[in-house]
This record gives sequence, structure tokens and C-alpha cells, in this order.
Amino acid sequence: MANMARCYKGIPASPGIAIAVARVLDSCDTPESSVLLACADTPELEWQRFSEALESSRKDLESVRDTILSELGQLKAEIFEAHISLLKDPELKAEVHRLIFDQGFAAQLAVRDAIAGFIDLLSQVDDEMFTARIDDLRDLSKRLTAHLEGYAGKSDELIGASIIVANDLTPSETVQLDRSLVMGFVTACGSAVSHSSILARSLGIPAIVGAAEAVALIQDGDLLVLDGGTGKLLINPQTDELVAYQNKLAEYKTSQAALAEWAGKPSLSADGQNLELAANIGGISDLMAVEKYGADGIGLFRTEFMYMDRPMLPDESEQYQVYKHVLERMNPKPVVIRTLDIGGDKQLDALPMKAEANPFLGVRALRLCLAREDIFRTQLRALLRASVHGRLRIMFPMVAVLEELRAAKAILAEEKLTLCKAGIPVADTIEIGVMIEIPAAALCADILAAECDFFSIGSNDLTQYTMAADRMNPELAHLNQASHPAVLRLVAMAAAAARRHGIWTGVCGEMAADPVCAALLVGMGVTELSMGAASIPLIRKKLAGISIETAVHQAELAQGLESAQAVRTMMTGVDT
Ligand code: PEP
Ligand code: MG
Repeated sequence: MANMARCYKGIPASPGIAIAVARVLDSCDTPESSVLLACADTPELEWQRFSEALESSRKDLESVRDTILSELGQLKAEIFEAHISLLKDPELKAEVHRLIFDQGFAAQLAVRDAIAGFIDLLSQVDDEMFTARIDDLRDLSKRLTAHLEGYAGKSDELIGASIIVANDLTPSETVQLDRSLVMGFVTACGSAVSHSSILARSLGIPAIVGAAEAVALIQDGDLLVLDGGTGKLLINPQTDELVAYQNKLAEYKTSQAALAEWAGKPSLSADGQNLELAANIGGISDLMAVEKYGADGIGLFRTEFMYMDRPMLPDESEQYQVYKHVLERMNPKPVVIRTLDIGGDKQLDALPMKAEANPFLGVRALRLCLAREDIFRTQLRALLRASVHGRLRIMFPMVAVLEELRAAKAILAEEKLTLCKAGIPVADTIEIGVMIEIPAAALCADILAAECDFFSIGSNDLTQYTMAADRMNPELAHLNQASHPAVLRLVAMAAAAARRHGIWTGVCGEMAADPVCAALLVGMGVTELSMGAASIPLIRKKLAGISIETAVHQAELAQGLESAQAVRTMMTGVDT
């Protein structure tokens, strides 16, 4: 199998070509039998092995923490800080010592049993906060065992340029990929609008998802060719195929370089109308790309990434520092900060949520914030305090009904009043926006428009809810059609309602980065398009070639067509 050439098709998740060896995640977990068969030497020697494994694990963790700190900032680094502090836990050491000296266990077995005992104890406590601690302990057990077994550094860590192969990658795992070594990734699960795919696009990592058959076959060390633009994956390609893809890779790099000049140009239609091409970010670490690709502002700051992978929720002052930094760095360009949108495929260690049959239809985003006002108010206070440092726009996700908007605004007003009474300055004007991502909100957009300052269309969710097709389900990828006339009509309806009420409309879902859709959106009256920063030059170039009059005409035609395919054919002249 290892040398047999094979070709597979997955879901294109992030464009670009990668050619590298496969690194299959989780293939190097210690087989349980190997731990159980470990023979004990003298207790003194086993204790020494354990002490050395502790020391090596500490060094690993400190180096990972330092890299994450410099690349992704303090908040993301804290998870590793928690692991480092666990290494020093006196109770854990005492238990390992007891098992080695009193029971005659080998160090591997002592570590496994000691940590398993702590996990058992924590599992019995009915407190959500312990779930993250249990994950930390599992991680630590794996790491210590890897050092004791002598394969640390050869498991989850990469030796050279690689393509990651995994069943699934969570959004936080995606953020933590080592971009100097990860050339691309392929997963069995996921869809083009799952958050891991969205992150891959903003990190510029080519990716294919929903490729279960290929993932099951790929072995560590297989040579892979991954085309994230088409979803094509070659395993151990023939020489001629390899050469063809090496040429394609060179062409891709040239075309990307040619687009670079568009990063520095203004965002204008062919007839000179100003447009705003903004960037979607997940944190401070994305700001370099925002600057590189010349974004006109931030159209979506997904704040939830700041809450992930940490045992405690970020407090008000931490959040304030992050918002202040982003606002100051972007000033005078506007920054749309979305309040916490957790749920669906985005989960928090610090706030484990009840299992729901349909998490995307569940207690997500604003629904959760209105149920947990304490969390919501902390974020709003941090936002209000930061508002004096730039041009802040606050946006509420997953608004279905007017009452939710009113409730959110009332809480915001209360927090503002409290701050003002305490003499803490808050900006005079902060635009308040509503995400239009539930069909009910699009259908009743005129009602919402009367009580907010802008709309931003969340086309990822709007598409999944309109088509009743879970955005995470690779088997329904064919229904995930943002350019379907059903979705286009809802977007047009919302944009028209906004215009009637004198407010502006943006789009921050992935549709904004699709050259076909971008032109249609402008034709519907959308004036701000927000996307992964790397897509900005291409979309800017595309829109510079189309007049508003043409875009309006195409948008009208598109809404009357029979299918997404018909829309794309009309726009590209190619039968896709
Ligand atoms: C969307 O739904 O289009 C959106 C931008 O939000 P998210 O992808 O974070 O759900
Ligand atoms: Mg959404």
C-alpha cells in the first residue's frame, strides 16, 4: 500500500498546493500493552527515569509555550502554563513515588495509574471546571509516557515539512499548527465552512476536509500532493503527476505574488464607488496579515477564540487589553467586534455546555450570553472601556427576534451607565450591529433595521439554516450553497431593508471571499465585505473590474435563476 499511487477527492477547504510527507496524527500513541509490559528496574532507577521525564516534559512545554506566546499571544499560551504547573504538583509526585517504591511499579505504569487515579477522583466531582483539568491530566500522561518510552518528539511533533492527516482538527488545534512545518492538512470530517477550514484560509494553509476514505488509507511517511483549491489529493503520486503539481505550485505562487499589488490599492468598483474590504480575525496574531493584505478595517473579530483552550474564562481586564490593542492598531479604521459566539463546533474548556441533539440549533451565541448575563456583561464592560481607543462597532451574533436585540442593547446601556457613573470614559458613539444569519432575521430585517446601526450577513450560518444542511457534515457539502437563489434572496431582502432604514450592510461569512458571490453582494447593495485577510487582494481586483450598474443587474438576474450552479454559470460563463 505505502507505494501505491492513489487519487482521492475531498472537500476543498483552503486553496493552495502542498507537496510533503504525511504526518498522521495520533498514530504514535503508546499502545497500552507497551505500558503494561514495562519491566521495573530498581525503585531508585525508576524514580530517576520519572524525574528525567518530568524535566524533559517541562522543557518541551516551556518551548511550546514560548512559541505560542510570541505567535498567538498570552491567552493561547496559558494552556501550556497550566500543564507546566501540573508537573510540579506535589500530590502527583507523591503518588508516583508510592507506586514505584511501595508497589514496585515501572515508571510508565506508575505515571499511568497515578494520573488515572486523579482523573477518577475529578470525574466524580460534579463541577464543570474539572473537565478541563481532566484533559490537562490526560495530555500530561501522554507526554510523560512518551518521554519514558523514548519516542517523545517523534509523535505529535513534526520533524520536517509535513501535511497533517487527522480524523478531525478542532479550531484550537488548527490555530496551534506550526506554520513553519505544516504545509497543509487533510481531515476525514469537517466542511468548507467549519471553523477549522475558515481558520486554515486565514492562516493561508492549504487544506482538504471530508476526505474520510483517503484519511483511512494514508500512512505516516506517504508522499502527498494536496490541492486545496480543487479538493484533489494524491497519495504517493507517479513521477509525472508529481512534476505536474510542482509546476502548478510554482504557478500558484506566481499568481499570488501578482495579486500582492492589490493589497495596497483602494477598494473601488469599476465606476469608482467606495467599498470597504475588511478582514475577519480571531485574535491579535491575525493583525499582521490584516496589515499585509491592506484591509480597510476589521469586519469580524471572532472573540470566542480568546475564550478557548484555557481553564478559566478571560476576565474583564484581559479582554480590555486585547480589544484596546486591536482598536489602537487599526485606528482610524473601524473594527467590528462580535460578542461571544460559542456553541456549535466552538466549545470552551472553561464553560462545558450541556450536550444538545442539534448544537447549531441550540443555546449558542447571543442565546447563551442572554442566559449567562455574568459572562456577557464582563465582555460588554471590556468593550465599552476599550471603545475610547479606536472606532469600535459592536455586533451581536445569532439574533433571531427583536426581543433578543432589545435585551442585548438594554444590558449594554446598563453597563455603559454604570461605567459613566464611575467616571470611566466610554466613546460617545458606538455603532451596534446585528448579524443576519438566521432566516427569521433576514425575513424580518426591516423590524431589526429600525433598532440597529448596521447588519452583517453571516452567510455561513444563513446558508446552513436556509438549506437545513449542517455546515459540519461532509455528506451535505453539496447543499452548502451560499450562491443558491434561496440564500441570495434572503441577503437581498436584508440589504434592501437596511437601505430603507438608512443603515449599511456588510457580509462577514465566507461568501464575501468568493469572487462570484462578492460581485453579486455588491449588486445587492452590500458595501462592506469582510473575509480572511489573504483573500482581500483577489476580491479587490475582481470588484475593480465591475461597475455597480452591472453588479445590480447580475444580482437581479441571479435571484431569478433555478440553482446555485446556474448562478455560477451566469457569472463565470463556465458550466461548473
Ligand atoms: C457566519 O455564520 O457566516 C459567520 C461569519 O459566523 P461564524 O462562521 O463564526 O458562525
Ligand atoms: Mg455564524
